[in-house]
Amino acid sequence: MENRLILVIDAGTTSTRALIFTRAGHCLAMAQEEIDQHYPQPGWVEHDAAQIWDRTLACIQTVVGQVEDTSLLSAIGITNQRETVVFWDRRTGEPLAPAIVWQDRRTADICARMKAAGHEAMVTKKTGLLLDPYFSASKIAWALENWPDLRAAGDALAVGTVESYLIFRLTGGLHISDASNASRTSLMDIEQGCWDDELLALFDVKPSTLPRVVDNIGHLATCDPALFGLALPICGLAGDQQAATIGQGCLEPGQCKATYGTGAFILSVTGTQRRHSAHRLLSTIGWQQDGVRHYALEGSIFVAGSLIKWLRDTLGLIASAAESEALAREVEDNGGVYLVPAHSGLGAPHWNPHARGQISGLGLGSAKAHIVRAALEAMAYQTHDLQAAFAADGAPWSELRIDGGMSVNDWMAQDLADILQVPVIRPDFVETTAKGAAILAAVGCGMYPSLREAAAGMIGQCRTFAPVISTSDRSNRLAGWRAALAGVLMGRE
Ligand code: ADP
Repeated sequence: MENRLILVIDAGTTSTRALIFTRAGHCLAMAQEEIDQHYPQPGWVEHDAAQIWDRTLACIQTVVGQVEDTSLLSAIGITNQRETVVFWDRRTGEPLAPAIVWQDRRTADICARMKAAGHEAMVTKKTGLLLDPYFSASKIAWALENWPDLRAAGDALAVGTVESYLIFRLTGGLHISDASNASRTSLMDIEQGCWDDELLALFDVKPSTLPRVVDNIGHLATCDPALFGLALPICGLAGDQQAATIGQGCLEPGQCKATYGTGAFILSVTGTQRRHSAHRLLSTIGWQQDGVRHYALEGSIFVAGSLIKWLRDTLGLIASAAESEALAREVEDNGGVYLVPAHSGLGAPHWNPHARGQISGLGLGSAKAHIVRAALEAMAYQTHDLQAAFAADGAPWSELRIDGGMSVNDWMAQDLADILQVPVIRPDFVETTAKGAAILAAVGCGMYPSLREAAAGMIGQCRTFAPVISTSDRSNRLAGWRAALAGVLMGRE
Protein backbone atom coordinates (compact mmCIF):
# COMPACT_ATOMS: atom_id res chain seq x y z
CA MET A 1 0.00 0.00 0.00
CA GLU A 2 1.48 3.30 -1.16
CA ASN A 3 -0.58 5.44 1.21
CA ARG A 4 0.53 3.91 4.50
CA LEU A 5 1.76 6.33 7.17
CA ILE A 6 4.41 6.36 9.89
CA LEU A 7 4.16 8.01 13.28
CA VAL A 8 7.48 9.38 14.54
CA ILE A 9 8.27 10.38 18.11
CA ASP A 10 11.27 12.71 18.48
CA ALA A 11 11.99 13.19 22.18
CA GLY A 12 14.65 15.92 22.21
CA THR A 13 16.34 17.87 24.99
CA THR A 14 14.42 21.12 24.71
CA SER A 15 11.22 19.75 23.20
CA THR A 16 9.37 16.56 22.34
CA ARG A 17 7.50 16.10 19.08
CA ALA A 18 5.30 13.74 17.13
CA LEU A 19 5.20 13.73 13.32
CA ILE A 20 3.35 11.83 10.62
CA PHE A 21 5.32 10.79 7.51
CA THR A 22 4.15 9.36 4.22
CA ARG A 23 5.93 6.55 2.40
CA ALA A 24 7.49 9.22 0.15
CA GLY A 25 8.98 10.93 3.22
CA HIS A 26 6.63 13.94 3.30
CA CYS A 27 5.73 15.25 6.73
CA LEU A 28 1.93 15.63 6.96
CA ALA A 29 1.55 16.75 10.57
CA MET A 30 3.68 17.81 13.52
CA ALA A 31 2.99 18.63 17.16
CA GLN A 32 5.61 19.90 19.57
CA GLU A 33 5.78 20.65 23.31
CA GLU A 34 8.62 22.19 25.31
CA ILE A 35 10.44 20.16 27.97
CA ASP A 36 11.36 21.94 31.22
CA GLN A 37 15.07 22.11 32.05
CA HIS A 38 15.91 21.98 35.77
CA TYR A 39 19.26 23.30 37.00
CA PRO A 40 19.28 22.45 40.74
CA GLN A 41 23.01 23.24 41.08
CA PRO A 42 25.69 24.65 38.76
CA GLY A 43 26.56 21.99 36.21
CA TRP A 44 23.50 19.87 37.00
CA VAL A 45 20.74 19.40 34.40
CA GLU A 46 17.62 17.36 35.10
CA HIS A 47 14.32 16.49 33.42
CA ASP A 48 11.08 15.18 34.82
CA ALA A 49 10.58 11.92 32.90
CA ALA A 50 6.86 11.93 33.75
CA GLN A 51 6.60 15.27 31.94
CA ILE A 52 8.49 13.88 28.93
CA TRP A 53 5.98 11.02 28.78
CA ASP A 54 2.87 13.20 29.32
CA ARG A 55 3.90 15.75 26.71
CA THR A 56 5.01 13.11 24.22
CA LEU A 57 1.66 11.35 24.56
CA ALA A 58 -0.15 14.68 24.12
CA CYS A 59 1.80 15.30 20.88
CA ILE A 60 0.98 11.78 19.65
CA GLN A 61 -2.70 12.26 20.37
CA THR A 62 -2.67 15.61 18.53
CA VAL A 63 -1.11 14.28 15.33
CA VAL A 64 -3.04 11.01 15.33
CA GLY A 65 -6.18 13.14 15.68
CA GLN A 66 -5.22 14.90 12.42
CA VAL A 67 -5.04 11.64 10.43
CA GLU A 68 -8.34 11.08 8.61
CA ASP A 69 -7.98 7.33 8.19
CA THR A 70 -5.98 6.01 11.15
CA SER A 71 -6.01 2.50 9.68
CA LEU A 72 -3.27 3.81 7.35
CA LEU A 73 -0.91 4.27 10.30
CA SER A 74 1.45 1.32 10.01
CA ALA A 75 4.32 1.75 12.42
CA ILE A 76 6.03 3.94 14.99
CA GLY A 77 9.62 5.19 14.80
CA ILE A 78 11.25 6.67 17.90
CA THR A 79 14.33 8.87 18.20
CA ASN A 80 15.56 10.57 21.34
CA GLN A 81 18.14 12.64 23.20
CA ARG A 82 20.91 10.18 24.00
CA GLU A 83 22.75 9.34 27.25
CA THR A 84 20.11 10.90 29.52
CA VAL A 85 19.08 8.34 32.19
CA VAL A 86 15.65 7.68 33.68
CA PHE A 87 14.96 5.76 36.92
CA TRP A 88 11.47 4.34 37.36
CA ASP A 89 9.33 1.83 39.26
CA ARG A 90 8.59 -1.10 36.97
CA ARG A 91 5.34 -1.82 38.87
CA THR A 92 3.82 1.60 38.15
CA GLY A 93 5.96 3.15 35.39
CA GLU A 94 6.38 6.26 37.55
CA PRO A 95 9.83 7.88 37.84
CA LEU A 96 11.61 7.31 41.17
CA ALA A 97 14.03 10.24 40.72
CA PRO A 98 14.79 13.08 38.30
CA ALA A 99 16.23 12.09 34.93
CA ILE A 100 19.91 13.11 34.69
CA VAL A 101 20.47 14.82 31.34
CA TRP A 102 23.42 14.25 28.97
CA GLN A 103 24.72 17.79 29.58
CA ASP A 104 24.97 17.21 33.35
CA ARG A 105 28.55 17.44 34.71
CA ARG A 106 27.94 16.29 38.32
CA THR A 107 29.94 13.12 37.78
CA ALA A 108 33.16 14.87 36.73
CA ASP A 109 34.82 13.74 39.99
CA ILE A 110 33.69 10.13 39.63
CA CYS A 111 35.10 10.08 36.09
CA ALA A 112 38.35 11.76 37.16
CA ARG A 113 38.80 9.19 39.95
CA MET A 114 38.21 6.29 37.58
CA LYS A 115 40.63 7.83 35.09
CA ALA A 116 43.28 8.27 37.79
CA ALA A 117 42.77 4.63 38.78
CA GLY A 118 43.66 3.67 35.19
CA HIS A 119 40.26 2.46 33.96
CA GLU A 120 39.94 4.60 30.83
CA ALA A 121 41.81 2.28 28.47
CA MET A 122 39.46 -0.63 29.31
CA VAL A 123 36.36 1.58 29.04
CA THR A 124 37.45 2.95 25.65
CA LYS A 125 38.41 -0.46 24.31
CA LYS A 126 35.03 -1.95 25.15
CA THR A 127 32.65 0.99 24.70
CA GLY A 128 34.36 3.21 22.11
CA LEU A 129 33.73 6.11 24.53
CA LEU A 130 35.85 8.05 27.02
CA LEU A 131 35.51 8.39 30.79
CA ASP A 132 33.46 11.56 30.64
CA PRO A 133 30.32 12.68 32.56
CA TYR A 134 28.56 12.96 29.17
CA PHE A 135 27.80 9.21 29.07
CA SER A 136 25.13 7.43 31.16
CA ALA A 137 27.11 5.02 33.34
CA SER A 138 28.64 7.52 35.78
CA LYS A 139 25.23 9.21 36.10
CA ILE A 140 23.67 5.87 37.10
CA ALA A 141 26.51 5.23 39.57
CA TRP A 142 26.02 8.68 41.11
CA ALA A 143 22.24 8.26 41.41
CA LEU A 144 22.52 4.85 43.07
CA GLU A 145 24.98 6.28 45.56
CA ASN A 146 23.12 9.50 46.34
CA TRP A 147 19.40 8.76 46.00
CA PRO A 148 18.55 6.06 48.60
CA ASP A 149 15.03 5.57 47.16
CA LEU A 150 16.60 3.87 44.16
CA ARG A 151 18.36 1.13 46.12
CA ALA A 152 15.32 0.88 48.40
CA ALA A 153 13.14 0.07 45.38
CA GLY A 154 15.02 -3.24 45.05
CA ASP A 155 13.80 -5.35 42.16
CA ALA A 156 11.20 -2.73 41.20
CA LEU A 157 13.95 -0.36 40.01
CA ALA A 158 14.16 0.00 36.24
CA VAL A 159 16.86 2.11 34.57
CA GLY A 160 17.05 3.15 30.96
CA THR A 161 17.63 5.91 28.45
CA VAL A 162 14.73 8.05 27.21
CA GLU A 163 13.53 5.75 24.39
CA SER A 164 13.54 2.86 26.86
CA TYR A 165 11.27 4.77 29.25
CA LEU A 166 8.92 5.87 26.47
CA ILE A 167 8.62 2.30 25.18
CA PHE A 168 7.92 1.06 28.72
CA ARG A 169 5.04 3.54 28.94
CA LEU A 170 3.83 2.97 25.38
CA THR A 171 3.68 -0.81 25.81
CA GLY A 172 2.62 -1.01 29.44
CA GLY A 173 5.82 -2.60 30.70
CA LEU A 174 8.25 -3.81 28.02
CA HIS A 175 11.81 -2.92 29.07
CA ILE A 176 14.03 -2.71 25.98
CA SER A 177 16.64 -0.37 24.50
CA ASP A 178 18.08 -0.32 20.99
CA ALA A 179 21.73 -0.95 20.22
CA SER A 180 22.47 2.66 19.20
CA ASN A 181 21.19 4.08 22.50
CA ALA A 182 22.75 1.27 24.53
CA SER A 183 26.13 2.03 22.93
CA ARG A 184 26.08 5.49 24.57
CA THR A 185 25.68 4.27 28.14
CA SER A 186 29.29 3.15 28.60
CA LEU A 187 28.00 -0.18 29.95
CA MET A 188 27.96 -2.01 26.63
CA ASP A 189 30.70 -3.88 24.85
CA ILE A 190 29.98 -2.50 21.38
CA GLU A 191 31.66 -5.39 19.59
CA GLN A 192 29.71 -8.04 21.51
CA GLY A 193 26.49 -5.99 21.49
CA CYS A 194 25.58 -6.68 25.12
CA TRP A 195 26.04 -5.33 28.64
CA ASP A 196 29.54 -6.09 29.92
CA ASP A 197 30.20 -7.58 33.37
CA GLU A 198 33.43 -5.68 33.95
CA LEU A 199 31.77 -2.36 33.12
CA LEU A 200 28.71 -3.18 35.23
CA ALA A 201 31.05 -3.94 38.16
CA LEU A 202 33.07 -0.75 37.63
CA PHE A 203 29.94 1.44 37.78
CA ASP A 204 28.20 -0.86 40.31
CA VAL A 205 25.09 -1.39 38.18
CA LYS A 206 22.93 -4.53 38.50
CA PRO A 207 22.15 -5.97 35.06
CA SER A 208 18.59 -6.83 36.19
CA THR A 209 17.81 -3.09 36.37
CA LEU A 210 18.76 -2.58 32.69
CA PRO A 211 16.71 -3.09 29.52
CA ARG A 212 17.19 -5.91 27.04
CA VAL A 213 19.14 -4.66 24.02
CA VAL A 214 17.34 -5.07 20.68
CA ASP A 215 17.86 -4.23 17.00
CA ASN A 216 17.10 -0.74 15.62
CA ILE A 217 14.80 -2.18 12.95
CA GLY A 218 12.00 -4.75 13.07
CA HIS A 219 8.78 -5.46 14.93
CA LEU A 220 10.30 -4.47 18.27
CA ALA A 221 7.21 -3.87 20.44
CA THR A 222 3.47 -3.17 20.24
CA CYS A 223 1.72 -0.13 21.67
CA ASP A 224 -1.03 -0.45 24.25
CA PRO A 225 -4.25 0.35 22.30
CA ALA A 226 -5.70 2.05 25.39
CA LEU A 227 -3.36 5.03 24.83
CA PHE A 228 -4.57 6.34 21.46
CA GLY A 229 -6.82 3.64 20.13
CA LEU A 230 -4.27 1.78 18.00
CA ALA A 231 -2.08 -1.27 18.74
CA LEU A 232 0.68 0.08 16.49
CA PRO A 233 3.97 -1.80 16.18
CA ILE A 234 7.17 0.05 17.12
CA CYS A 235 9.42 -0.77 14.15
CA GLY A 236 12.31 1.72 14.29
CA LEU A 237 14.42 3.08 17.13
CA ALA A 238 17.62 5.16 17.25
CA GLY A 239 19.40 7.81 19.26
CA ASP A 240 19.05 11.27 17.68
CA GLN A 241 22.48 11.51 16.02
CA GLN A 242 22.31 7.99 14.61
CA ALA A 243 18.80 8.74 13.33
CA ALA A 244 20.07 11.93 11.67
CA THR A 245 22.85 9.92 10.01
CA ILE A 246 20.28 7.57 8.49
CA GLY A 247 17.95 10.49 7.72
CA GLN A 248 20.77 11.98 5.65
CA GLY A 249 21.15 8.73 3.76
CA CYS A 250 24.63 8.08 5.21
CA LEU A 251 24.66 4.29 5.05
CA GLU A 252 27.92 3.37 3.29
CA PRO A 253 31.40 3.54 4.84
CA GLY A 254 32.85 7.06 4.47
CA GLN A 255 29.48 8.84 4.27
CA CYS A 256 29.34 11.60 6.80
CA LYS A 257 26.87 14.09 8.28
CA ALA A 258 27.12 17.06 10.63
CA THR A 259 24.17 18.29 12.67
CA TYR A 260 24.47 21.91 13.85
CA GLY A 261 21.96 22.34 16.70
CA THR A 262 22.74 23.45 20.25
CA GLY A 263 26.01 21.54 19.83
CA ALA A 264 27.33 19.96 16.65
CA PHE A 265 27.66 16.23 16.11
CA ILE A 266 29.53 14.69 13.21
CA LEU A 267 29.15 11.01 12.41
CA SER A 268 30.90 9.05 9.68
CA VAL A 269 29.72 5.53 8.90
CA THR A 270 32.52 2.94 9.08
CA GLY A 271 30.69 -0.29 8.12
CA THR A 272 30.28 -3.52 10.05
CA GLN A 273 33.81 -3.36 11.48
CA ARG A 274 34.25 -1.23 14.58
CA ARG A 275 37.07 1.25 14.02
CA HIS A 276 39.29 2.36 16.91
CA SER A 277 40.12 6.05 16.95
CA ALA A 278 43.66 7.20 17.65
CA HIS A 279 42.51 10.84 17.69
CA ARG A 280 39.94 10.95 20.46
CA LEU A 281 36.90 10.42 18.29
CA LEU A 282 34.24 8.10 19.66
CA SER A 283 33.30 4.82 18.04
CA THR A 284 29.66 4.03 18.36
CA ILE A 285 26.94 1.76 17.01
CA GLY A 286 25.13 3.42 14.11
CA TRP A 287 22.40 0.81 13.85
CA GLN A 288 21.84 -2.93 14.26
CA GLN A 289 19.72 -4.95 11.86
CA ASP A 290 19.17 -8.72 12.16
CA GLY A 291 21.84 -8.75 14.85
CA VAL A 292 24.45 -7.19 12.52
CA ARG A 293 25.98 -4.00 13.89
CA HIS A 294 26.99 -1.06 11.70
CA TYR A 295 29.44 1.32 13.30
CA ALA A 296 30.26 5.01 13.08
CA LEU A 297 32.99 7.36 14.25
CA GLU A 298 31.68 10.43 16.02
CA GLY A 299 33.07 13.86 16.86
CA SER A 300 31.15 16.19 19.16
CA ILE A 301 31.42 19.98 19.34
CA PHE A 302 29.77 21.21 22.53
CA VAL A 303 29.02 24.80 21.48
CA ALA A 304 27.43 25.51 18.09
CA GLY A 305 23.94 27.10 17.95
CA SER A 306 24.25 27.93 21.63
CA LEU A 307 26.98 30.42 20.64
CA ILE A 308 24.50 32.28 18.44
CA LYS A 309 21.96 32.13 21.26
CA TRP A 310 24.62 33.60 23.59
CA LEU A 311 25.35 36.45 21.14
CA ARG A 312 21.61 37.14 21.04
CA ASP A 313 20.44 36.61 24.63
CA THR A 314 23.49 37.35 26.78
CA LEU A 315 25.48 39.88 24.76
CA GLY A 316 22.50 41.31 22.87
CA LEU A 317 24.66 41.70 19.71
CA ILE A 318 21.92 40.35 17.44
CA ALA A 319 18.14 40.46 17.65
CA SER A 320 17.60 37.05 16.04
CA ALA A 321 19.71 34.03 15.13
CA ALA A 322 18.98 34.73 11.45
CA GLU A 323 20.51 38.22 11.76
CA SER A 324 23.92 36.56 12.19
CA GLU A 325 23.89 35.79 8.47
CA ALA A 326 23.17 39.39 7.40
CA LEU A 327 25.92 40.70 9.72
CA ALA A 328 28.48 38.18 8.47
CA ARG A 329 27.81 39.37 4.91
CA GLU A 330 28.16 43.04 5.92
CA VAL A 331 31.97 42.85 6.32
CA GLU A 332 34.57 41.76 3.82
CA ASP A 333 36.41 39.49 6.24
CA ASN A 334 36.77 38.81 9.96
CA GLY A 335 39.10 41.83 10.39
CA GLY A 336 41.54 39.61 12.29
CA VAL A 337 38.96 38.72 14.95
CA TYR A 338 38.73 35.09 16.11
CA LEU A 339 36.24 33.60 18.54
CA VAL A 340 37.06 30.24 20.12
CA PRO A 341 33.76 28.95 21.53
CA ALA A 342 35.14 26.94 24.46
CA HIS A 343 32.32 28.17 26.71
CA SER A 344 31.78 24.66 28.15
CA GLY A 345 35.29 23.41 27.56
CA LEU A 346 36.28 21.85 24.25
CA GLY A 347 34.90 18.57 22.94
CA ALA A 348 36.47 16.39 20.26
CA PRO A 349 39.28 16.12 19.42
CA HIS A 350 40.56 18.11 22.44
CA TRP A 351 38.27 16.88 25.25
CA ASN A 352 39.46 19.69 27.47
CA PRO A 353 36.87 20.55 30.16
CA HIS A 354 39.04 23.39 31.55
CA ALA A 355 39.33 25.46 28.36
CA ARG A 356 37.25 28.65 28.26
CA GLY A 357 36.01 30.78 25.38
CA GLN A 358 37.99 33.70 23.99
CA ILE A 359 37.60 36.55 21.51
CA SER A 360 40.96 37.72 20.19
CA GLY A 361 42.42 40.09 17.62
CA LEU A 362 40.22 43.07 18.57
CA GLY A 363 41.16 46.56 17.43
CA LEU A 364 39.36 49.91 17.48
CA GLY A 365 38.13 49.12 14.00
CA SER A 366 36.50 45.86 15.12
CA ALA A 367 32.75 46.05 14.70
CA LYS A 368 29.87 43.94 15.95
CA ALA A 369 29.74 42.33 12.51
CA HIS A 370 33.34 41.10 12.86
CA ILE A 371 32.54 39.37 16.14
CA VAL A 372 29.38 37.78 14.75
CA ARG A 373 31.27 36.69 11.64
CA ALA A 374 34.03 35.23 13.84
CA ALA A 375 31.36 33.25 15.71
CA LEU A 376 30.02 31.74 12.48
CA GLU A 377 33.53 31.13 11.14
CA ALA A 378 34.28 29.16 14.32
CA MET A 379 31.86 26.46 13.12
CA ALA A 380 33.92 25.82 10.00
CA TYR A 381 37.21 25.88 11.94
CA GLN A 382 35.99 23.45 14.59
CA THR A 383 34.61 21.19 11.89
CA HIS A 384 37.91 21.45 10.02
CA ASP A 385 39.81 20.23 13.11
CA LEU A 386 37.47 17.24 13.30
CA GLN A 387 37.88 16.63 9.57
CA ALA A 388 41.63 16.28 10.21
CA ALA A 389 41.00 13.83 13.08
CA PHE A 390 38.64 11.72 10.93
CA ALA A 391 41.17 11.69 8.08
CA ALA A 392 43.98 10.70 10.44
CA ASP A 393 41.77 7.84 11.67
CA GLY A 394 41.41 6.63 8.07
CA ALA A 395 37.94 8.11 7.49
CA PRO A 396 38.45 11.12 5.16
CA TRP A 397 35.39 13.05 3.96
CA SER A 398 34.60 13.43 0.26
CA GLU A 399 31.51 15.53 1.05
CA LEU A 400 29.62 16.63 4.16
CA ARG A 401 25.85 16.51 4.59
CA ILE A 402 24.60 19.11 7.04
CA ASP A 403 21.39 19.64 9.00
CA GLY A 404 20.13 21.07 12.31
CA GLY A 405 18.72 24.51 13.16
CA MET A 406 21.94 26.36 12.32
CA SER A 407 22.33 24.77 8.90
CA VAL A 408 19.65 27.07 7.44
CA ASN A 409 22.35 29.77 7.52
CA ASP A 410 23.55 29.91 3.89
CA TRP A 411 26.62 31.95 4.77
CA MET A 412 27.75 29.28 7.23
CA ALA A 413 27.04 26.47 4.76
CA GLN A 414 29.22 28.20 2.13
CA ASP A 415 31.95 28.88 4.68
CA LEU A 416 31.98 25.20 5.66
CA ALA A 417 32.50 24.24 1.99
CA ASP A 418 35.32 26.80 1.68
CA ILE A 419 37.22 25.77 4.78
CA LEU A 420 36.63 22.01 4.44
CA GLN A 421 37.29 22.00 0.65
CA VAL A 422 34.53 19.45 0.05
CA PRO A 423 30.98 19.93 -1.26
CA VAL A 424 28.53 20.65 1.56
CA ILE A 425 25.07 19.22 0.95
CA ARG A 426 21.94 20.40 2.72
CA PRO A 427 18.54 18.73 2.33
CA ASP A 428 15.59 21.10 1.88
CA PHE A 429 13.88 19.30 4.77
CA VAL A 430 16.37 19.70 7.62
CA GLU A 431 14.43 17.60 10.18
CA THR A 432 16.68 14.66 9.41
CA THR A 433 16.46 13.14 12.90
CA ALA A 434 12.74 12.53 12.56
CA LYS A 435 13.23 11.48 8.92
CA GLY A 436 15.78 8.88 10.06
CA ALA A 437 13.34 7.40 12.59
CA ALA A 438 10.72 7.27 9.82
CA ILE A 439 13.16 5.46 7.51
CA LEU A 440 14.02 2.90 10.19
CA ALA A 441 10.33 2.25 10.92
CA ALA A 442 9.52 2.05 7.19
CA VAL A 443 12.03 -0.77 6.81
CA GLY A 444 11.01 -2.35 10.12
CA CYS A 445 7.38 -2.65 9.03
CA GLY A 446 8.19 -3.90 5.54
CA MET A 447 7.20 -0.74 3.67
CA TYR A 448 10.67 -0.83 2.04
CA PRO A 449 12.96 -3.86 1.71
CA SER A 450 16.17 -2.11 2.82
CA LEU A 451 17.54 1.08 4.37
CA ARG A 452 19.10 2.00 1.04
CA GLU A 453 15.76 1.78 -0.77
CA ALA A 454 13.91 3.58 2.02
CA ALA A 455 16.48 6.40 2.01
CA ALA A 456 16.20 6.70 -1.79
CA GLY A 457 12.41 6.82 -1.55
CA MET A 458 12.07 9.11 1.44
CA ILE A 459 14.87 11.71 1.24
CA GLY A 460 13.95 14.72 -0.91
CA GLN A 461 15.83 17.50 -2.70
CA CYS A 462 19.18 18.84 -1.51
CA ARG A 463 21.23 21.97 -2.21
CA THR A 464 24.99 21.75 -2.70
CA PHE A 465 27.51 24.42 -1.66
CA ALA A 466 30.82 24.09 -3.55
CA PRO A 467 34.15 25.54 -2.36
CA VAL A 468 35.07 28.90 -3.97
CA ILE A 469 37.64 30.46 -1.59
CA SER A 470 41.22 31.24 -2.76
CA THR A 471 43.98 29.04 -1.38
CA SER A 472 45.76 31.97 0.27
CA ASP A 473 42.64 33.31 2.01
CA ARG A 474 41.91 29.88 3.37
CA SER A 475 45.40 29.23 4.66
CA ASN A 476 45.60 32.70 6.26
CA ARG A 477 42.31 32.16 8.02
CA LEU A 478 43.27 28.70 9.27
CA ALA A 479 46.60 30.04 10.55
CA GLY A 480 44.70 32.72 12.48
CA TRP A 481 42.40 30.10 13.99
CA ARG A 482 45.32 27.86 15.00
CA ALA A 483 46.96 30.77 16.83
CA ALA A 484 43.70 31.66 18.59
CA LEU A 485 43.12 28.05 19.61
CA ALA A 486 46.66 27.73 20.92
CA GLY A 487 45.99 30.79 23.09
CA VAL A 488 42.94 29.11 24.59
CA LEU A 489 44.66 25.79 25.21
CA MET A 490 47.85 27.32 26.64
CA GLY A 491 48.26 26.27 30.25
CA ARG A 492 44.96 24.38 30.23
CA GLU A 493 46.12 20.96 29.13
P1 ADP B 1 18.45 21.51 19.15
O1 ADP B 1 17.86 20.40 18.33
O2 ADP B 1 19.82 21.21 19.70
O3 ADP B 1 17.53 22.06 20.20
P2 ADP B 1 18.13 23.04 16.69
O4 ADP B 1 18.59 22.07 15.67
O5 ADP B 1 16.69 23.37 16.78
O6 ADP B 1 18.73 22.73 18.12
O7 ADP B 1 18.93 24.41 16.37
C1 ADP B 1 18.72 25.56 17.12
C2 ADP B 1 19.99 26.38 17.17
O8 ADP B 1 20.27 26.91 15.88
C3 ADP B 1 19.84 27.55 18.11
O9 ADP B 1 20.87 27.48 19.08
C4 ADP B 1 20.00 28.80 17.24
O10 ADP B 1 20.84 29.74 17.87
C5 ADP B 1 20.64 28.27 15.97
N1 ADP B 1 20.12 28.95 14.76
C6 ADP B 1 18.85 28.99 14.32
N2 ADP B 1 18.76 29.71 13.18
C7 ADP B 1 20.02 30.14 12.88
C8 ADP B 1 20.60 30.92 11.83
N3 ADP B 1 19.85 31.40 10.82
N4 ADP B 1 21.92 31.16 11.88
C9 ADP B 1 22.69 30.66 12.87
N5 ADP B 1 22.20 29.92 13.89
C10 ADP B 1 20.89 29.66 13.90
